[in-house]
Amino acid sequence: MCLVKLKVTNTLTGKKEYFEPLIPGFVRMYVCGPTPYDHTHIGHARTYIVFDLVRRYLEYLGYTVFHVMNITDIDDKIIRRAKELGVDWRDVPEKYTREFIDVLVKLNIKMPHVMPKVTEHIDDIIEFIQDLIRKGYAYESHGSVYFEVDKFPEYGKLSKRRVSEEWRQEEEFLREKKKPYDFALWKKAKPGEPWWNSPWGPGRPGWHIECSVMSSKYLGPQFDIHGGGQDLIFPHHENEIAQSEARFGITPWVKYWLHVGYLTIKGEKMSKSLGNIIPVYEVLEKYKPEVLRLYLLSSYYRSPMDFTWEGLEHTKTLFNRLVKVVDGSKKILLDEKPPHKLSSTIRAHVNKIVKLKRMFFESLSDDFNMAKAMPYLHELISFSMKKLDSEPSYALALTIYSALKELNEVLGVLDKYFYGAKEVEEKLRRIVEAVVSVRHEFRMKKQYDVSDKIRDALAKVGVKLYDFKDRTTWVIEY
Ligand code: AMP
Ligand code: ZN
Repeated sequence: MCLVKLKVTNTLTGKKEYFEPLIPGFVRMYVCGPTPYDHTHIGHARTYIVFDLVRRYLEYLGYTVFHVMNITDIDDKIIRRAKELGVDWRDVPEKYTREFIDVLVKLNIKMPHVMPKVTEHIDDIIEFIQDLIRKGYAYESHGSVYFEVDKFPEYGKLSKRRVSEEWRQEEEFLREKKKPYDFALWKKAKPGEPWWNSPWGPGRPGWHIECSVMSSKYLGPQFDIHGGGQDLIFPHHENEIAQSEARFGITPWVKYWLHVGYLTIKGEKMSKSLGNIIPVYEVLEKYKPEVLRLYLLSSYYRSPMDFTWEGLEHTKTLFNRLVKVVDGSKKILLDEKPPHKLSSTIRAHVNKIVKLKRMFFESLSDDFNMAKAMPYLHELISFSMKKLDSEPSYALALTIYSALKELNEVLGVLDKYFYGAKEVEEKLRRIVEAVVSVRHEFRMKKQYDVSDKIRDALAKVGVKLYDFKDRTTWVIEY
Protein backbone atom coordinates (compact mmCIF):
# COMPACT_ATOMS: atom_id res chain seq x y z
CA MET A 1 0.00 0.00 0.00
CA CYS A 2 1.37 3.40 -0.93
CA LEU A 3 -0.39 6.53 0.25
CA VAL A 4 1.65 9.05 -1.72
CA LYS A 5 0.30 10.06 -5.12
CA LEU A 6 2.41 9.11 -8.09
CA LYS A 7 4.38 11.83 -9.84
CA VAL A 8 6.12 11.41 -13.18
CA THR A 9 8.58 13.60 -15.05
CA ASN A 10 7.08 14.43 -18.40
CA THR A 11 9.59 15.16 -21.17
CA LEU A 12 6.89 17.15 -23.00
CA THR A 13 6.35 19.71 -20.24
CA GLY A 14 9.77 19.30 -18.61
CA LYS A 15 7.95 19.05 -15.26
CA LYS A 16 7.19 16.50 -12.60
CA GLU A 17 3.42 16.05 -12.68
CA TYR A 18 0.77 14.11 -10.79
CA PHE A 19 -0.16 11.06 -12.78
CA GLU A 20 -3.79 10.92 -13.88
CA PRO A 21 -4.69 8.67 -16.81
CA LEU A 22 -7.23 9.83 -19.36
CA ILE A 23 -9.59 7.00 -18.34
CA PRO A 24 -9.57 6.70 -14.54
CA GLY A 25 -7.95 3.42 -13.46
CA PHE A 26 -6.92 2.42 -16.99
CA VAL A 27 -3.49 3.25 -18.42
CA ARG A 28 -2.63 2.97 -22.08
CA MET A 29 1.12 2.69 -22.64
CA TYR A 30 3.10 2.48 -25.87
CA VAL A 31 6.81 1.70 -25.80
CA CYS A 32 8.91 1.85 -28.95
CA GLY A 33 10.21 -1.63 -29.63
CA PRO A 34 13.51 -2.73 -31.12
CA THR A 35 14.81 -2.81 -34.66
CA PRO A 36 15.94 -6.42 -34.56
CA TYR A 37 19.07 -6.51 -36.72
CA ASP A 38 21.60 -7.59 -34.10
CA HIS A 39 21.89 -9.03 -30.60
CA THR A 40 19.81 -7.55 -27.80
CA HIS A 41 22.33 -5.76 -25.60
CA ILE A 42 22.14 -4.66 -22.00
CA GLY A 43 21.41 -1.05 -23.06
CA HIS A 44 18.20 -2.28 -24.68
CA ALA A 45 17.54 -4.38 -21.59
CA ARG A 46 17.76 -1.30 -19.39
CA THR A 47 15.06 0.51 -21.34
CA TYR A 48 12.67 -2.46 -21.41
CA ILE A 49 13.24 -3.28 -17.74
CA VAL A 50 12.46 0.33 -16.83
CA PHE A 51 9.13 0.20 -18.65
CA ASP A 52 8.45 -3.13 -16.98
CA LEU A 53 8.99 -1.35 -13.65
CA VAL A 54 6.61 1.41 -14.76
CA ARG A 55 3.97 -1.14 -15.70
CA ARG A 56 4.42 -3.22 -12.56
CA TYR A 57 4.31 -0.21 -10.27
CA LEU A 58 1.15 1.11 -11.93
CA GLU A 59 -0.40 -2.34 -11.55
CA TYR A 60 0.74 -2.43 -7.94
CA LEU A 61 -1.09 0.88 -7.43
CA GLY A 62 -4.23 -0.75 -8.81
CA TYR A 63 -4.27 0.50 -12.40
CA THR A 64 -4.97 -1.75 -15.35
CA VAL A 65 -2.17 -1.24 -17.85
CA PHE A 66 -2.69 -1.91 -21.54
CA HIS A 67 0.79 -2.20 -22.96
CA VAL A 68 1.71 -2.12 -26.65
CA MET A 69 5.20 -2.43 -28.14
CA ASN A 70 6.03 -2.52 -31.83
CA ILE A 71 8.68 -4.49 -33.66
CA THR A 72 10.41 -2.57 -36.47
CA ASP A 73 10.86 -5.54 -38.77
CA ILE A 74 11.73 -3.52 -41.87
CA ASP A 75 14.30 -0.74 -41.85
CA ASP A 76 17.51 0.44 -43.56
CA LYS A 77 19.62 -1.31 -40.93
CA ILE A 78 17.86 -4.62 -41.50
CA ILE A 79 18.32 -4.39 -45.27
CA ARG A 80 21.99 -3.48 -44.85
CA ARG A 81 22.58 -6.34 -42.42
CA ALA A 82 20.89 -8.87 -44.71
CA LYS A 83 23.13 -7.71 -47.57
CA GLU A 84 26.25 -8.10 -45.39
CA LEU A 85 25.20 -11.60 -44.39
CA GLY A 86 23.99 -12.53 -47.88
CA VAL A 87 20.63 -13.73 -46.57
CA ASP A 88 16.99 -12.97 -47.30
CA TRP A 89 16.14 -9.72 -45.48
CA ARG A 90 13.27 -11.45 -43.61
CA ASP A 91 15.70 -13.80 -41.88
CA VAL A 92 17.32 -10.92 -39.98
CA PRO A 93 14.31 -9.67 -37.97
CA GLU A 94 13.10 -13.25 -37.64
CA LYS A 95 16.29 -14.32 -35.87
CA TYR A 96 16.77 -11.27 -33.67
CA THR A 97 13.10 -10.86 -32.70
CA ARG A 98 13.28 -14.41 -31.41
CA GLU A 99 16.36 -13.52 -29.38
CA PHE A 100 14.67 -10.34 -28.10
CA ILE A 101 11.60 -12.27 -26.90
CA ASP A 102 13.86 -14.83 -25.21
CA VAL A 103 15.54 -11.94 -23.39
CA LEU A 104 12.18 -10.51 -22.26
CA VAL A 105 11.20 -13.91 -20.88
CA LYS A 106 14.54 -14.53 -19.14
CA LEU A 107 14.57 -11.08 -17.55
CA ASN A 108 10.99 -11.55 -16.34
CA ILE A 109 9.75 -8.56 -18.32
CA LYS A 110 5.97 -8.77 -18.62
CA MET A 111 4.96 -9.37 -22.21
CA PRO A 112 3.23 -6.43 -23.89
CA HIS A 113 -0.38 -7.27 -24.63
CA VAL A 114 0.18 -6.53 -28.31
CA MET A 115 3.49 -6.66 -30.22
CA PRO A 116 2.61 -5.45 -33.72
CA LYS A 117 5.07 -5.74 -36.58
CA VAL A 118 5.42 -3.08 -39.26
CA THR A 119 5.22 -5.56 -42.12
CA GLU A 120 1.80 -6.68 -40.88
CA HIS A 121 0.44 -3.10 -40.90
CA ILE A 122 1.36 -1.79 -44.33
CA ASP A 123 -2.30 -1.14 -45.28
CA ASP A 124 -2.89 0.82 -42.08
CA ILE A 125 0.24 2.84 -42.75
CA ILE A 126 -0.85 3.68 -46.30
CA GLU A 127 -4.28 4.74 -45.04
CA PHE A 128 -2.69 7.01 -42.40
CA ILE A 129 -0.41 8.65 -44.98
CA GLN A 130 -3.30 9.16 -47.43
CA ASP A 131 -5.20 10.95 -44.71
CA LEU A 132 -2.20 13.22 -43.98
CA ILE A 133 -2.02 14.11 -47.68
CA ARG A 134 -5.77 14.78 -47.75
CA LYS A 135 -5.46 17.06 -44.75
CA GLY A 136 -2.61 18.99 -46.37
CA TYR A 137 0.24 17.89 -44.09
CA ALA A 138 2.09 15.65 -46.53
CA TYR A 139 3.08 15.64 -50.19
CA GLU A 140 4.19 13.12 -52.76
CA SER A 141 7.45 13.64 -54.60
CA HIS A 142 9.26 11.26 -56.99
CA GLY A 143 7.35 8.22 -55.68
CA SER A 144 8.02 9.04 -52.02
CA VAL A 145 5.84 10.91 -49.53
CA TYR A 146 7.12 13.52 -47.08
CA PHE A 147 5.69 15.25 -44.04
CA GLU A 148 5.70 19.01 -44.50
CA VAL A 149 7.08 20.23 -41.19
CA ASP A 150 6.17 23.90 -41.83
CA LYS A 151 2.49 22.89 -41.80
CA PHE A 152 2.77 21.85 -38.16
CA PRO A 153 3.75 24.98 -36.21
CA GLU A 154 4.16 23.13 -32.91
CA TYR A 155 6.98 21.04 -34.34
CA GLY A 156 9.86 20.88 -31.84
CA LYS A 157 7.74 21.03 -28.69
CA LEU A 158 9.03 17.73 -27.30
CA SER A 159 12.72 18.12 -28.05
CA LYS A 160 12.63 21.93 -27.57
CA ARG A 161 14.34 22.43 -30.91
CA ARG A 162 13.55 25.23 -33.31
CA VAL A 163 13.12 24.36 -36.94
CA SER A 164 16.03 25.64 -38.99
CA GLU A 165 17.26 25.30 -42.55
CA GLU A 166 20.40 23.72 -41.09
CA TRP A 167 18.49 20.61 -40.17
CA ARG A 168 18.62 17.79 -42.58
CA GLN A 169 16.35 14.86 -41.96
CA GLU A 170 16.58 12.08 -44.56
CA GLU A 171 19.60 13.81 -46.11
CA GLU A 172 19.80 11.57 -49.17
CA PHE A 173 16.42 12.88 -50.40
CA LEU A 174 17.20 16.59 -50.08
CA ARG A 175 16.51 17.30 -53.74
CA GLU A 176 13.05 15.76 -53.59
CA LYS A 177 11.82 17.67 -50.55
CA LYS A 178 10.34 21.13 -50.16
CA LYS A 179 12.46 21.78 -47.06
CA PRO A 180 15.57 19.96 -45.81
CA TYR A 181 13.85 19.19 -42.51
CA ASP A 182 10.81 17.44 -44.02
CA PHE A 183 10.90 13.73 -43.30
CA ALA A 184 9.80 10.62 -45.19
CA LEU A 185 6.52 8.87 -44.53
CA TRP A 186 6.86 6.57 -47.52
CA LYS A 187 10.10 5.75 -49.35
CA LYS A 188 10.16 4.85 -53.01
CA ALA A 189 11.64 1.36 -53.58
CA LYS A 190 15.30 1.13 -54.54
CA PRO A 191 16.44 -1.71 -56.81
CA GLY A 192 16.93 -4.95 -54.91
CA GLU A 193 15.15 -3.72 -51.78
CA PRO A 194 11.89 -5.00 -50.33
CA TRP A 195 8.78 -3.11 -51.40
CA TRP A 196 5.02 -3.03 -51.13
CA ASN A 197 2.47 -1.59 -53.55
CA SER A 198 1.03 1.80 -52.70
CA PRO A 199 -0.90 4.63 -54.38
CA TRP A 200 2.54 6.26 -54.96
CA GLY A 201 4.10 3.17 -56.53
CA PRO A 202 6.25 0.45 -54.96
CA GLY A 203 8.01 1.43 -51.75
CA ARG A 204 8.17 0.96 -47.99
CA PRO A 205 7.23 2.97 -44.91
CA GLY A 206 9.59 5.47 -43.28
CA TRP A 207 10.55 4.70 -39.69
CA HIS A 208 8.48 7.23 -37.71
CA ILE A 209 5.09 6.60 -39.25
CA GLU A 210 4.82 3.03 -37.93
CA CYS A 211 4.55 4.11 -34.30
CA SER A 212 1.83 6.70 -34.98
CA VAL A 213 -0.09 4.04 -36.90
CA MET A 214 0.29 1.10 -34.56
CA SER A 215 -0.20 3.03 -31.33
CA SER A 216 -3.44 4.59 -32.57
CA LYS A 217 -4.66 1.30 -34.00
CA TYR A 218 -4.43 -0.43 -30.62
CA LEU A 219 -4.70 2.42 -28.11
CA GLY A 220 -6.85 4.99 -29.89
CA PRO A 221 -6.05 8.55 -31.07
CA GLN A 222 -4.95 9.71 -27.60
CA PHE A 223 -3.33 7.78 -24.78
CA ASP A 224 -1.39 8.11 -21.54
CA ILE A 225 2.25 7.03 -21.71
CA HIS A 226 4.69 6.88 -24.58
CA GLY A 227 8.29 6.02 -24.04
CA GLY A 228 11.64 4.75 -25.14
CA GLY A 229 15.30 5.53 -24.71
CA GLN A 230 16.33 9.19 -24.70
CA ASP A 231 17.80 8.95 -28.21
CA LEU A 232 14.25 8.60 -29.49
CA ILE A 233 13.18 12.11 -28.38
CA PHE A 234 14.49 13.57 -31.60
CA PRO A 235 13.67 12.99 -34.35
CA HIS A 236 11.57 9.87 -33.78
CA HIS A 237 9.13 11.02 -31.10
CA GLU A 238 9.03 14.60 -32.36
CA ASN A 239 7.97 13.25 -35.76
CA GLU A 240 5.45 10.88 -34.23
CA ILE A 241 3.76 13.82 -32.47
CA ALA A 242 3.63 15.84 -35.69
CA GLN A 243 2.08 12.96 -37.67
CA SER A 244 -0.46 12.01 -35.01
CA GLU A 245 -1.59 15.46 -33.93
CA ALA A 246 -1.85 16.46 -37.59
CA ARG A 247 -4.07 13.50 -38.36
CA PHE A 248 -6.23 13.34 -35.23
CA GLY A 249 -6.30 17.02 -34.28
CA ILE A 250 -5.99 16.09 -30.58
CA THR A 251 -3.43 17.88 -28.40
CA PRO A 252 -1.59 16.51 -26.59
CA TRP A 253 -1.66 13.25 -28.47
CA VAL A 254 0.13 11.59 -25.56
CA LYS A 255 -0.24 12.85 -22.00
CA TYR A 256 3.09 11.69 -20.49
CA TRP A 257 6.37 11.17 -22.34
CA LEU A 258 8.93 9.07 -20.46
CA HIS A 259 12.52 8.67 -21.59
CA VAL A 260 15.22 6.40 -20.25
CA GLY A 261 18.81 7.60 -19.85
CA TYR A 262 21.55 5.71 -21.63
CA LEU A 263 23.31 2.70 -20.31
CA THR A 264 26.90 3.73 -20.86
CA ILE A 265 30.19 1.93 -20.66
CA LYS A 266 33.22 3.99 -19.68
CA GLY A 267 30.97 7.01 -20.14
CA GLU A 268 29.99 6.22 -23.74
CA LYS A 269 26.52 5.16 -24.86
CA MET A 270 26.35 1.43 -25.39
CA SER A 271 25.54 1.02 -29.07
CA LYS A 272 26.29 -1.19 -32.00
CA SER A 273 27.77 1.71 -33.98
CA LEU A 274 30.36 2.44 -31.25
CA GLY A 275 31.28 -1.25 -31.12
CA ASN A 276 30.94 -1.44 -27.33
CA ILE A 277 27.86 -3.58 -26.87
CA ILE A 278 27.57 -6.38 -24.34
CA PRO A 279 24.84 -8.77 -25.47
CA VAL A 280 22.45 -9.93 -22.78
CA TYR A 281 23.27 -13.58 -23.46
CA GLU A 282 26.94 -12.89 -22.67
CA VAL A 283 26.09 -11.53 -19.22
CA LEU A 284 23.72 -14.44 -18.60
CA GLU A 285 26.58 -16.88 -19.13
CA LYS A 286 28.09 -15.49 -15.91
CA TYR A 287 25.17 -14.13 -13.90
CA LYS A 288 21.62 -15.16 -13.11
CA PRO A 289 18.98 -13.15 -15.01
CA GLU A 290 17.61 -11.97 -11.66
CA VAL A 291 20.97 -10.35 -10.87
CA LEU A 292 21.14 -8.52 -14.20
CA ARG A 293 17.53 -7.41 -13.80
CA LEU A 294 18.09 -6.09 -10.28
CA TYR A 295 21.27 -4.33 -11.37
CA LEU A 296 19.62 -2.55 -14.30
CA LEU A 297 16.67 -1.60 -12.11
CA SER A 298 18.69 -0.07 -9.33
CA SER A 299 19.30 3.45 -10.68
CA TYR A 300 17.03 6.40 -11.45
CA TYR A 301 15.78 5.71 -14.96
CA ARG A 302 16.23 9.21 -16.42
CA SER A 303 19.89 9.40 -15.41
CA PRO A 304 22.64 7.71 -17.34
CA MET A 305 23.92 4.50 -15.80
CA ASP A 306 27.51 3.44 -16.30
CA PHE A 307 27.85 -0.33 -16.54
CA THR A 308 30.59 -2.07 -14.55
CA TRP A 309 31.20 -5.74 -13.80
CA GLU A 310 31.96 -4.75 -10.17
CA GLY A 311 28.50 -3.18 -9.94
CA LEU A 312 27.01 -6.43 -11.16
CA GLU A 313 29.06 -8.35 -8.61
CA HIS A 314 27.72 -6.12 -5.79
CA THR A 315 24.19 -6.76 -7.01
CA LYS A 316 24.88 -10.50 -6.94
CA THR A 317 25.74 -10.20 -3.24
CA LEU A 318 22.57 -8.18 -2.65
CA PHE A 319 20.47 -10.75 -4.49
CA ASN A 320 21.96 -13.64 -2.50
CA ARG A 321 21.16 -11.78 0.72
CA LEU A 322 17.60 -11.22 -0.48
CA VAL A 323 17.17 -14.95 -1.13
CA LYS A 324 18.68 -15.74 2.26
CA VAL A 325 16.15 -13.50 3.97
CA VAL A 326 13.24 -15.08 2.09
CA ASP A 327 14.48 -18.60 2.91
CA GLY A 328 15.24 -17.62 6.51
CA SER A 329 11.80 -16.15 7.10
CA LYS A 330 10.14 -19.15 5.41
CA LYS A 331 11.99 -21.53 7.73
CA ILE A 332 10.90 -19.60 10.81
CA LEU A 333 7.30 -19.62 9.61
CA LEU A 334 7.50 -23.42 9.45
CA ASP A 335 9.41 -23.88 12.73
CA GLU A 336 7.89 -21.32 15.07
CA LYS A 337 4.40 -21.15 16.48
CA PRO A 338 2.27 -18.05 15.90
CA PRO A 339 2.48 -15.93 19.04
CA HIS A 340 -0.43 -15.15 21.31
CA LYS A 341 1.05 -11.79 22.16
CA LEU A 342 3.67 -9.56 20.56
CA SER A 343 6.50 -8.34 22.75
CA SER A 344 7.23 -4.64 22.53
CA THR A 345 10.60 -5.39 20.90
CA ILE A 346 9.02 -7.49 18.16
CA ARG A 347 6.34 -4.88 17.70
CA ALA A 348 9.06 -2.26 17.15
CA HIS A 349 10.83 -4.52 14.63
CA VAL A 350 7.59 -5.14 12.78
CA ASN A 351 6.96 -1.41 12.62
CA LYS A 352 10.41 -0.81 11.27
CA ILE A 353 9.96 -3.33 8.43
CA VAL A 354 6.56 -1.89 7.53
CA LYS A 355 8.03 1.60 7.49
CA LEU A 356 10.99 0.61 5.29
CA LYS A 357 8.61 -1.05 2.85
CA ARG A 358 6.45 2.06 2.77
CA MET A 359 9.48 4.29 2.18
CA PHE A 360 10.53 2.03 -0.68
CA PHE A 361 7.18 2.42 -2.42
CA GLU A 362 6.95 6.12 -1.66
CA SER A 363 10.29 6.57 -3.44
CA LEU A 364 8.80 4.86 -6.48
CA SER A 365 5.90 7.28 -6.34
CA ASP A 366 8.48 9.99 -6.91
CA ASP A 367 8.95 9.34 -10.62
CA PHE A 368 9.81 5.62 -10.21
CA ASN A 369 13.01 6.64 -8.46
CA MET A 370 14.78 3.37 -7.75
CA ALA A 371 17.99 5.15 -6.74
CA LYS A 372 16.00 6.66 -3.90
CA ALA A 373 14.24 3.35 -3.11
CA MET A 374 17.30 1.09 -3.03
CA PRO A 375 18.72 2.25 0.34
CA TYR A 376 15.45 1.19 1.98
CA LEU A 377 15.75 -2.24 0.41
CA HIS A 378 19.36 -2.52 1.64
CA GLU A 379 18.33 -1.52 5.13
CA LEU A 380 15.38 -3.88 5.13
CA ILE A 381 17.64 -6.77 4.20
CA SER A 382 20.40 -5.96 6.71
CA PHE A 383 17.91 -5.44 9.52
CA SER A 384 16.01 -8.63 8.64
CA MET A 385 19.16 -10.75 8.47
CA LYS A 386 20.24 -9.54 11.88
CA LYS A 387 16.91 -9.97 13.60
CA LEU A 388 15.89 -13.26 12.00
CA ASP A 389 19.13 -14.64 13.32
CA SER A 390 19.14 -13.15 16.81
CA GLU A 391 15.42 -13.03 17.59
CA PRO A 392 13.53 -15.58 15.49
CA SER A 393 9.89 -14.68 15.77
CA TYR A 394 6.88 -15.84 13.79
CA ALA A 395 5.35 -12.37 13.62
CA LEU A 396 8.55 -10.75 12.44
CA ALA A 397 9.25 -13.49 9.89
CA LEU A 398 5.71 -13.10 8.54
CA THR A 399 6.15 -9.33 8.24
CA ILE A 400 9.47 -9.69 6.42
CA TYR A 401 8.18 -12.43 4.13
CA SER A 402 5.08 -10.42 3.20
CA ALA A 403 7.06 -7.20 2.72
CA LEU A 404 9.48 -8.86 0.32
CA LYS A 405 6.64 -10.53 -1.54
CA GLU A 406 5.06 -7.12 -2.00
CA LEU A 407 8.35 -5.54 -3.07
CA ASN A 408 8.82 -8.38 -5.52
CA GLU A 409 5.69 -7.33 -7.38
CA VAL A 410 7.81 -4.55 -8.85
CA LEU A 411 11.29 -6.03 -8.48
CA GLY A 412 10.32 -9.31 -10.17
CA VAL A 413 13.45 -11.14 -9.02
CA LEU A 414 12.10 -13.51 -6.39
CA ASP A 415 9.25 -15.24 -8.22
CA LYS A 416 10.94 -18.63 -7.94
CA TYR A 417 11.20 -18.27 -4.19
CA PHE A 418 7.61 -17.21 -3.64
CA TYR A 419 5.46 -18.97 -6.17
CA GLY A 420 4.65 -22.65 -6.38
CA ALA A 421 6.68 -25.75 -5.93
CA LYS A 422 9.61 -25.47 -8.31
CA GLU A 423 9.43 -29.12 -9.34
CA VAL A 424 5.76 -28.88 -10.35
CA GLU A 425 6.44 -25.74 -12.34
CA GLU A 426 9.38 -27.38 -14.07
CA LYS A 427 7.26 -30.39 -14.98
CA LEU A 428 4.57 -28.08 -16.32
CA ARG A 429 7.08 -26.27 -18.49
CA ARG A 430 8.24 -29.57 -19.93
CA ILE A 431 4.66 -30.57 -20.72
CA VAL A 432 4.04 -27.29 -22.55
CA GLU A 433 7.35 -27.70 -24.38
CA ALA A 434 6.27 -31.19 -25.52
CA VAL A 435 2.88 -29.96 -26.78
CA VAL A 436 4.50 -27.03 -28.59
CA SER A 437 7.02 -29.25 -30.31
CA VAL A 438 4.34 -31.71 -31.53
CA ARG A 439 2.38 -28.71 -32.83
CA HIS A 440 5.54 -27.53 -34.55
CA GLU A 441 5.63 -30.76 -36.57
CA PHE A 442 2.07 -30.15 -37.75
CA ARG A 443 3.01 -26.58 -38.71
CA MET A 444 6.01 -27.74 -40.70
CA LYS A 445 3.75 -30.15 -42.59
CA LYS A 446 1.38 -27.20 -43.20
CA GLN A 447 -1.42 -28.96 -41.27
CA TYR A 448 -2.60 -25.62 -39.98
CA ASP A 449 -6.05 -26.85 -38.97
CA VAL A 450 -4.46 -29.01 -36.26
CA SER A 451 -1.72 -26.57 -35.31
CA ASP A 452 -4.20 -23.68 -34.95
CA LYS A 453 -6.43 -25.85 -32.77
CA ILE A 454 -3.52 -26.59 -30.45
CA ARG A 455 -2.54 -22.91 -30.39
CA ASP A 456 -6.09 -21.87 -29.46
CA ALA A 457 -6.35 -24.57 -26.78
CA LEU A 458 -3.07 -23.42 -25.22
CA ALA A 459 -4.20 -19.78 -25.37
CA LYS A 460 -7.28 -20.73 -23.36
CA VAL A 461 -5.09 -21.89 -20.48
CA GLY A 462 -2.84 -18.83 -20.69
CA VAL A 463 0.00 -20.15 -22.85
CA LYS A 464 0.72 -17.67 -25.63
CA LEU A 465 2.68 -18.76 -28.69
CA TYR A 466 4.93 -16.65 -30.92
CA ASP A 467 5.50 -18.36 -34.26
CA PHE A 468 8.69 -17.92 -36.24
CA LYS A 469 9.67 -19.62 -39.45
CA ASP A 470 11.49 -22.55 -37.91
CA ARG A 471 10.56 -22.36 -34.25
CA THR A 472 7.89 -21.31 -31.79
CA THR A 473 8.54 -19.41 -28.59
CA TRP A 474 5.98 -19.52 -25.80
CA VAL A 475 5.21 -17.71 -22.60
CA ILE A 476 2.81 -18.37 -19.78
CA GLU A 477 0.70 -15.30 -19.13
CA TYR A 478 -0.32 -14.66 -15.58
P1 AMP B 1 16.87 0.18 -31.18
O1 AMP B 1 16.65 -1.25 -31.52
O2 AMP B 1 18.26 0.64 -31.39
O3 AMP B 1 15.83 1.05 -31.82
O4 AMP B 1 16.65 0.34 -29.61
C1 AMP B 1 15.51 -0.11 -28.95
C2 AMP B 1 15.31 0.69 -27.67
O5 AMP B 1 16.45 0.53 -26.81
C3 AMP B 1 15.14 2.19 -27.90
O6 AMP B 1 14.15 2.68 -27.00
C4 AMP B 1 16.49 2.75 -27.55
O7 AMP B 1 16.40 4.07 -27.11
C5 AMP B 1 16.92 1.82 -26.42
N1 AMP B 1 18.39 1.78 -26.27
C6 AMP B 1 19.32 1.48 -27.22
N2 AMP B 1 20.57 1.61 -26.71
C7 AMP B 1 20.42 1.98 -25.40
C8 AMP B 1 21.33 2.27 -24.34
N3 AMP B 1 22.65 2.19 -24.49
N4 AMP B 1 20.81 2.63 -23.14
C9 AMP B 1 19.47 2.71 -22.94
N5 AMP B 1 18.57 2.45 -23.91
C10 AMP B 1 19.02 2.09 -25.12
ZN1 ZN C 1 8.61 4.39 -32.11
